[in-house]
Amino acid sequence: MVNFKIETWGCQMNEYDSQKMAGILKSRGYNEVEKEEDADVFILNTCSVREKAAHKIFTRVGVIRKKFGKGKIIGITGCVASHEADNLFKKIPNLNFVLGTRSIHLIKDAIEEALKGKTFCDTSDHEENLNIKPEQIDRKKMVKAYISIMEGCNNFCTYCVVPYTRGREVSRPIEDIIEEIKYTIEHYGIKEVELLGQNVNSYNYNGKTFKDVLIEVDRIKGLKRIRFLTSHPKDFDEELVKVIATSEKICKYIHLPMQSGSNKILKLMGRKYTREEYFEKIDMLRSYIPEAVISSDFIVAFPGEEEEDFLLTMDAIHRIQYDNIFSFKYSPRPKTAALRLKNEIPPEIADKRLFVLQKYQEKVQAIKHKEMEGKIYEVLVESVSKRDKTRLTGRTEGNHVVNFEAGRGENLIGRFVKVKIISSTFTSLKGILV
Ligand code: SF4
Repeated sequence: MVNFKIETWGCQMNEYDSQKMAGILKSRGYNEVEKEEDADVFILNTCSVREKAAHKIFTRVGVIRKKFGKGKIIGITGCVASHEADNLFKKIPNLNFVLGTRSIHLIKDAIEEALKGKTFCDTSDHEENLNIKPEQIDRKKMVKAYISIMEGCNNFCTYCVVPYTRGREVSRPIEDIIEEIKYTIEHYGIKEVELLGQNVNSYNYNGKTFKDVLIEVDRIKGLKRIRFLTSHPKDFDEELVKVIATSEKICKYIHLPMQSGSNKILKLMGRKYTREEYFEKIDMLRSYIPEAVISSDFIVAFPGEEEEDFLLTMDAIHRIQYDNIFSFKYSPRPKTAALRLKNEIPPEIADKRLFVLQKYQEKVQAIKHKEMEGKIYEVLVESVSKRDKTRLTGRTEGNHVVNFEAGRGENLIGRFVKVKIISSTFTSLKGILV
């Protein structure tokens, strides 16, 4: 029997792809192992959103080769594989296979060729990986199921590598999405799904829109929570917000990446909205759903970002008072249009801006978390806490992570419980079972 181990970096989409590869291999008699010494095949499912992704891979392959010699098969899949295949084969001697994000359904063929001593490479834009049957996805007893509804992106924001690694937008038929969700409910007892796409708002299959997907998914019996990721502000409209507002299942948690508060920088980023339009969308969202939990992404020190542009970003953050922000320094990515931009920001200024933004957000989050103390929330229990084995961890509808005492030793994982928040920091919430 051939043993394999998958190491996953990056986002939910990559995690979902790893579940697909594991499922395909297991259904063909391969065996998944935890310990690296037991693995015959290493699959490194990579992410290239941040800089130095390829570097990280070279280091990891080096460690595996040093420990186990040439005996192990090593394959690279995912975003880095999609756009750096030649480079990977050139720089990693004895690399066995490379599969792009839209070729992962070929994982069995890749390993079979490697077992015969041949190399295998496929980075083409197949659509089969979107049509992998629900029973072939190994969901690893997860409480929440990731369900891809579309893949790729046509937006070409000037800093982003996704259109090059995941290709152009392709949407799945609604029937396939529904079938997969029903399967996860029946076979895994799933109560929460997260609908995934690089830009879910531009879902389009035979004239059906993302709103139609939400309406159909909302009707599925046995499902309690629906989340989705990621929305593009330019496509986030009132009709969609009305659907979210009137559903009992769709979480009132919206991730709406603003990226910059300066119109000059938004234009350079190719984001296709202005700060004023973004504020209007947030006002519209809050007018329908006042309790909406809102998070965002920001990139600081984009080429050409002057102090006044950064201050406009801080002004936007101050106005909106986000519940959570994912913030990064700009990092140049291969093939992207932003590589041609001049006026790079010196690293010390970039560091300072990121620090200022994050410190401000810490204060906002600490206040918001404090306001949650003493209140009771419904929490879907996800796992035993990594830091303290006597505690469980779960999420509120607003995507807040809550840690709480495990209680009477019942197996609560996968169940909804009521938790009263008793203390908090800017990063975490602690509670007790009610
Ligand atoms: S919309 Fe998102 S995924 Fe698409 S190019 Fe822009 S940042 Fe990348």
